[in-house]
Amino acid sequence: MLTTAEDRFHIELSHYAFEYMSRAKDIGQAVQELLGVVAKKYDLNRITILENKTNLSYLSVTYEWCAEGVKSLLNHVISYTEKLYHYFLGKSEDKGQSETEHSIHYPIFDCITQILKENEDTSLVALPLLLKEKRIGIITFESKGNGNFTDGAVKSFQELKNILESYFFVLRAFKETSEELEQVTRYDSVTGLFNYDTFLKEAEYLMRKADENSGYALIYADIVNFKYFNESYGYSSGDELLKLFNQSISSVCGKKVLACRVFSDYFVILGKLGNEDAEKKLSRVLELLDQNFSDKVKKIYPDAMLHIAAGVYIINDTKQAIKTYIDNADKARKNAKLCSKLYVIYNETMDIEIKRNIMISNIAEDALQNNEFYFELQPKYDLRYKTVIGAEALVRWKRADGTVMYPNEFIPVFEKNEFIVKLDFYVYAKVCQYLREKIDSMEKTVPISMNVSRVHLRYHDFVKRVTSLVDIYGIPHDLLEFEITESIFLDNSSLARNVMVELKEAGFLVSMDDFGAGYSSLNLLKNLDFDILKLDKDFLEGGKIHKKEEIVIESIISMAKKMRIKVLCEGVETKEQAELLEQLKCDLVQGYYFGRPMLAKDFEKLLRLGCING
Ligand code: C2E
Ligand code: CA
Ligand code: CA
Repeated sequence: MLTTAEDRFHIELSHYAFEYMSRAKDIGQAVQELLGVVAKKYDLNRITILENKTNLSYLSVTYEWCAEGVKSLLNHVISYTEKLYHYFLGKSEDKGQSETEHSIHYPIFDCITQILKENEDTSLVALPLLLKEKRIGIITFESKGNGNFTDGAVKSFQELKNILESYFFVLRAFKETSEELEQVTRYDSVTGLFNYDTFLKEAEYLMRKADENSGYALIYADIVNFKYFNESYGYSSGDELLKLFNQSISSVCGKKVLACRVFSDYFVILGKLGNEDAEKKLSRVLELLDQNFSDKVKKIYPDAMLHIAAGVYIINDTKQAIKTYIDNADKARKNAKLCSKLYVIYNETMDIEIKRNIMISNIAEDALQNNEFYFELQPKYDLRYKTVIGAEALVRWKRADGTVMYPNEFIPVFEKNEFIVKLDFYVYAKVCQYLREKIDSMEKTVPISMNVSRVHLRYHDFVKRVTSLVDIYGIPHDLLEFEITESIFLDNSSLARNVMVELKEAGFLVSMDDFGAGYSSLNLLKNLDFDILKLDKDFLEGGKIHKKEEIVIESIISMAKKMRIKVLCEGVETKEQAELLEQLKCDLVQGYYFGRPMLAKDFEKLLRLGCING
């Protein structure tokens, strides 16, 4: 029989449990306090909770209470015996229990009690801990002296075991789920970065705390051509790309920035600029980020040359809404994409520009119907024979009010809304129509080259469509040349290569435009089959050709010649440049010095004359 006081203690125990639970700062502390109450009540040496780590085949001491002078076993590990292994895996039906009337003995835990016992004189009781019938661990109670535990003590031990099973472990499991829940509600499941809502809250908090003069910037970045990567490589590869981008943010910006994925491949990063010159720092960081990311991508997808485009908003007033910074950085990002730049910093004129681009986009279709687009021809010249050997068709837009717009103003907009596909085919048709008229009236004709927008690569039937258009007009294919800009090969080298091969196979002339403007790779020369290499006009910028440029041009010319590729130098503006190019044995030239882009009728006059300037 139990005395009344003992009888009440195990009931009191659950009150203690409630109290500790409600005021303790964490579950561990509440468990600790509860163990303390029991240990003190029965003058124990130690209470130990060992949890089962089945996957690692051991028991680990996760909570304990020790009397003064008793060695702590916290985090101590006990490897399973074979029997214990089966017991905890639930393979053994043996409950391990041999029950007497008031006390319970688990022989299966004997090996553990032997290890845990301070010395031979102490007695130790071990009880299993169960959670939803799963054996999750053991709790042991060790007396200070030798002698059996009273019935009341055993009852309290069992009550403690029940409390632990029903509250603490359940609570802990709940805490783990709520942590998982927090992971889901606060973080982005693909990248592990903050999600947009969390970012907004954290950013607002940061800005509220920020000192007025500390200088912050918000970057809005996206991966150029992510959509096409997703379509070609599949969505799980797309997800992998997003993770890589997250890794790049961490390795370049460190942990000091606040970053999130807004949606799709759109990321924002909020960071401190520090004392360094803002523009210098941004340019360094963004270049590193771009490089780091494209290197990472290349390692896994050698064919994909991916880059980022970013807009930056420099925060001068930390009191504005975060969404305003994001909107402005986004405007700058769109601008960066339009002009194929790595990044653009927001300024107020951008709002005007954005409105203008929307207007251009809205009126394009009508302009095409009203024949506002036409082409000019810029002569190409053979330096050796001093004759005009061809021309490049360059599109122009004569607006209803008589003003003429140049391609750099509208092509980026049309590449974005894909109107360029229509416009290019319109230009191709006009050029074919023009050549048809010349052929029909038996006038002299020379090959005319036309530009190929990168957007065509997205359509697999591009060359088929071109061929049927040309054949409607019955134009010999070798009278037409297609200029493919080098940078297209950076977007997607295999698609660009296919277009080049198909155009060649169809008998058209093909040139590589703007060679040297981007990250030109000599591999392009080695791996591709084309007729003319057009050296970018940047080589000649500034009027004078420097010695180093001379060496580069000369080597490209000699290399190309060995591969039976002709070299055309663009942007020749002066007599000196022309003479030097002649010395360097450059076959062909194009530029204001030999002739600006002109109306077709003026070009015909020139053709009849046969030569220019020379
Ligand atoms: P691009 O293909 O590199 O064309 C050469 C550009 O350089 C033309 O600018 C031409 O007017 C200019 N240029 C020619 N000689 C000189 C020179 O001596 N010095 C300088 N500084 N510039 C010279 P434009 O006509 O404004 O065209 C700009 C770009 O727009 C073209 O660059 C081409 O990429 C694109 N483009 C033009 N027409 C079309 C078209 O019909 N379709 C497509 N998709 N793109 C086009
Ligand atoms: Ca061109
Ligand atoms: Ca060019």
